[in-house]
Amino acid sequence: MTVSNPAQRRVLSELRGVGVERPTFDPALAMALRERIETSLEDLAGELDRPLWASKQALSRILGCEAHHVSEERSGFAWSLPAARGSVVHKAIQLSVTWKGEPAALDLVDAGIERLLDDAQSGDLGAFLGARSSGELAELRSDAGDLVCKFLEQWPPLLPSWKPRSESRLRVELCGGRIILSGKADLTLGTAMADTAGRLIVDFKTGRPGPHHTDDLRFYALLDTLVIGIPPFRLAGYYLDEASFHPENVTEQVLEAAARRTIAGVTRLIELQLGLRSPQITPNPACGWCALRPTCAGAEEWDLARRHDSADGGT
Ligand code: SF4
Repeated sequence: MTVSNPAQRRVLSELRGVGVERPTFDPALAMALRERIETSLEDLAGELDRPLWASKQALSRILGCEAHHVSEERSGFAWSLPAARGSVVHKAIQLSVTWKGEPAALDLVDAGIERLLDDAQSGDLGAFLGARSSGELAELRSDAGDLVCKFLEQWPPLLPSWKPRSESRLRVELCGGRIILSGKADLTLGTAMADTAGRLIVDFKTGRPGPHHTDDLRFYALLDTLVIGIPPFRLAGYYLDEASFHPENVTEQVLEAAARRTIAGVTRLIELQLGLRSPQITPNPACGWCALRPTCAGAEEWDLARRHDSADGGT
């Protein structure tokens, strides 16, 4: 394989960890994590009259600010051009994994848009894309093409022997199917061999590193462990704009932290779904775009805290 630039060499050596021995894990770990989560949630889950779905987005939102989460759930998700661009980029990267021959970024983007327009699983994204003007679509193609081009430049060709899988869905049913944890990893490479970890999970990001990205990846590591039985060996957020990545090796402590956070988040989701208490407000970065901002005291608190932080930073 030809690896032509330093970014590609870094992906191979620092991310994929070529030549580095993989850790082994006790096969009982996955069972112990499942048991711990189910034991913590079973009483509340028993009260549910319909399955509760928990995704990385729902966990991040509910643990950030409950009132914000409830507001978002009520208003429902509305597609925007930046959100659509992210989905098109992910689709194009997915297609690049199995594309025959050397792919061109714009060909991948066009094929990705075509599939999203037809794909019932993409929900109302197809309808959103179908309703865009020629100018909006041209801008979307250009922006998405730039990011896909960066992926093709920064990543070495993904060899079949690395077992690349993109947009791989993860789903774990807990407490007799009353709780469903779900996620979709952008890219996984490798596979576990007996008790030896072998999978790398990558989430591609088109913006700046955010504090919840580590938690999102840890959630995927937990799901992967519960599904496969052996944890992945490493997680990484890959930031296409700056060709940088934030890797984390998976350990028992990382998985325990993910399990604790999942229990805390799902507990809140169930309590609010059952109406056991009112949603609390917690000032946090989401105050910047929250629909409740005009009337919520938390937004003012958040702005004030940020002003103080900037003032402290300036002295
Ligand atoms: S403005 Fe901030 S504190 Fe208030 S509901 Fe929204 S995210 Fe929560």
